Amino acid sequence: MNSVLIRGGTVVNADTSLAADVLCEGGLIHAIGHDLDVPAGTTIVDAGGAFVMPGGIDPHTHMELPFMGTVAKDDFFTGTSAAVSGGKTMIVDFVIPDPKQSLMEAWNHWNGWARKSVTDYSFHVAVTWWDQSVHDDMGTLVRDHVINSFKHFMAYKNAIMADDETPVNSFTRALELGAVPTVHAENGELVFQLQKKLLAQGMTGPEAHPMSRPPAVEAEAAERAIRIAEVLGTPLYIVHVSCEDTVAAIIRARSHGQRVYGEVLAQHLTIDESVYRNPDWNIAAAHVMSPPFRAKHHQDALWNALAAVHLHTTATDHCAFCENQKAMGKGDFSRIPNGTAGVEDGMAVLWDAGVNTGRLTPNEFVKVTSTNCAQIFNLHPRKGAIAVGSDADLVVWDPTATKTITTAGSVSKVGHNVFEGRKVMGLPKVTLSQGRIVWMDGDLRIERGAGRYVKRPAFAPVRRAEAPGRHARAASRAVCRLTCRTSRPDDLRAISTTPTSATRIRRSRRSRR
Ligand SMILES: [Zn+2]
Repeated sequence: MNSVLIRGGTVVNADTSLAADVLCEGGLIHAIGHDLDVPAGTTIVDAGGAFVMPGGIDPHTHMELPFMGTVAKDDFFTGTSAAVSGGKTMIVDFVIPDPKQSLMEAWNHWNGWARKSVTDYSFHVAVTWWDQSVHDDMGTLVRDHVINSFKHFMAYKNAIMADDETPVNSFTRALELGAVPTVHAENGELVFQLQKKLLAQGMTGPEAHPMSRPPAVEAEAAERAIRIAEVLGTPLYIVHVSCEDTVAAIIRARSHGQRVYGEVLAQHLTIDESVYRNPDWNIAAAHVMSPPFRAKHHQDALWNALAAVHLHTTATDHCAFCENQKAMGKGDFSRIPNGTAGVEDGMAVLWDAGVNTGRLTPNEFVKVTSTNCAQIFNLHPRKGAIAVGSDADLVVWDPTATKTITTAGSVSKVGHNVFEGRKVMGLPKVTLSQGRIVWMDGDLRIERGAGRYVKRPAFAPVRRAEAPGRHARAASRAVCRLTCRTSRPDDLRAISTTPTSATRIRRSRRSRR
């Protein structure tokens, strides 16, 4: 049996750190402690001076996504290879059906594509339209394929944008199923109108991209989704929160008892909107993603929210389009495929800009790179924890190692890097997936298709704790009026208080006179 002993490191979990060795056997963490009984033939990894942490989980990637007339460059093999080289050991990607496409048909496509993954993987499924078949397929996905999250795009009009009817129906269905609704929060109609206006003014370059999607466009959609979730009594997870306005909406909702979770990207934490004014069109276009990069002061709001637990997870929205693909938008910024890569460097950038600056402790780093995600999406403690019996998905993190991020040194196939030239300190020395070394000192040791599909059962503990909706429903009871004095309380539901029946009551009283 394949066994690995990680010796001499500091084990860092979300709640505590301790000096201990970790023995991995059969893909699981078998023992944690000192002087462990180690089987003959065990591979020894020296972790002296390093941190041993749960491998990162990226809750937001798009490998080989068909989008805006092209397909993202990194597929599930190259994308997850890039992930392990950066210390991530699981991704949650998105199944995105076209409008009117069956959810199950799209599910089957993505499932086939993902079989070449190097790491374990799972899927959120997007609900881009609504009818009875979507309602039924959501049930099938939760029951038979064991997923617990659905995504809603409030942007990308005339493509995958969901109008209000879709999330209202879908959130309601998710509530029944014990699943978590997630949203890409941007007002797609406003974006559409602003794009048209800017193009008409001759603003065709990438610098117009952030102007077409200002913070208010994001905050309006976030607030709307939050209010829909409030009315329906569902939890809500907002992907790639990019501005202080959305953070404020989340803080308000959470302080009123709503379970709203926020995700932030390593890119939004570290890159600002000045990139869109780069005189080199290719560099500016390489940064086109939505929501766009913001004015610098938003970064402080995002870091503060992460430290204050108003934001909970970190991701990269890895969606890699190369220079030729981005060039589809020469002459019209609205046609530049939206997306940036990040799965490879996200953890190092987050460590350097977060832990080295004192904004996050190593334990908080673990929380926001794996544990919180594992808890929200019901993977914990199989993932996101170093505990006996957990999956041996680990990263040995050398806090003193340094590098300058360059495209040339990348595993990703995208051919450019939004973190190009950034110097970072703190890097993965060794990454283990299912107890096997898949990255060691710059050497990839991956196996195509070794990744497994990971089930995420509905009714996660955080989902069960969701309470405001239940309280509201428990308190709702029809008022007993004249005609129902003799009725049992149970029958009250059957008595409508619509104007029609009220009129009927008045008429019957009049006729008695
Ligand atoms: Zn995305």
